[in-house]
Amino acid sequence: MLLELTGRGLYCPAGDFYIDPWQPVRRAIVTHAHGDHARRGSERYLAAAQGAGVIRHRLGADTHLETIPYGESRLINGVRVSLHPAGHILGSAQVRVEQDGEVWVVSGDYKREPDPTCTPFEVVPCHTFITEATFGLPIYRWPPQEEVFAEVNAWWRQNQTEGRASVLFAYALGKAQRLLMGIDATIGPIYVHGAVHNLNEIYRASGVRLPDARYVGEASPKEDWSRALIVAPPSAQSSPWLRRFGRSSTAFASGWMRVRGQRRRRSVDRGFVLSDHVDWPGIIDTVSATGAQRVLATHGYTPPLVRWLAEQGLEAYALETPYQGEADEQGE
Ligand SMILES: [Zn+2]
Ligand SMILES: [Zn+2]
Repeated sequence: MLLELTGRGLYCPAGDFYIDPWQPVRRAIVTHAHGDHARRGSERYLAAAQGAGVIRHRLGADTHLETIPYGESRLINGVRVSLHPAGHILGSAQVRVEQDGEVWVVSGDYKREPDPTCTPFEVVPCHTFITEATFGLPIYRWPPQEEVFAEVNAWWRQNQTEGRASVLFAYALGKAQRLLMGIDATIGPIYVHGAVHNLNEIYRASGVRLPDARYVGEASPKEDWSRALIVAPPSAQSSPWLRRFGRSSTAFASGWMRVRGQRRRRSVDRGFVLSDHVDWPGIIDTVSATGAQRVLATHGYTPPLVRWLAEQGLEAYALETPYQGEADEQGE
């Protein structure tokens, strides 16, 4: 096998490297900067050039990090390795591994919708495709993102007319920036939590032209929050940090909002269905587009996906990893 699952993570024996290992290793290839993929402690890392800023932010400035542009390949102990856009967050990559004409692709987290904060997903033909399955159930179908952004805008405007601040919870890395790019920034002032602010700075330095969004910590004590949109990570939801905004409406933007009851479970007033992961039809389309005959599913709802793929005549298995799905990405 070109790649196999070990106690430290997905391993390439011929090339002697790991992909997104969860234990320290000598050589790690990292698909993207979320905490369940980029973990500290390895000797050296390889990642896509566009993600250098966010990956250093995650792993620490003293990390031994080498980057390559999308599409450029490296020979590692005779195994050809290249990184290709995954469309998930800034710098996210699929890893293509080739030896003796056999090609494997590890998707990492990915999505198929356009997102102005990162390079669009590229279909990479392969024999074996390792796909994420965070939302690998037929109920997960994303509404068109234009509709979701219109709902956010309408909610913000409604809150303004009712004199309430609009507090929107979203993962600080990726989702927050995608929201800032997607909403109508002319509606009112935009503020962000410190965790979002730090990442915004890195996105800007990496060339993403985010709209103006001020750090909450720099606001005047007399700020009228009732006109503002405030973007914060989910971890800020139950903190005293929220009190300064006075009367507010809260919302959460996540793929999980597709399921009835999730909004109440998260105790927010509104749920917006917006995910940086591929939905069920997206997984099916992508598997078919790669031409892969063997598919390994990881992260999330693997059994239903594996069963469906096997029924289509593909060789399909689940790859069980200790980290399952988007909930792990809250660890900012
Ligand atoms: Zn991710
Ligand atoms: Zn993930």
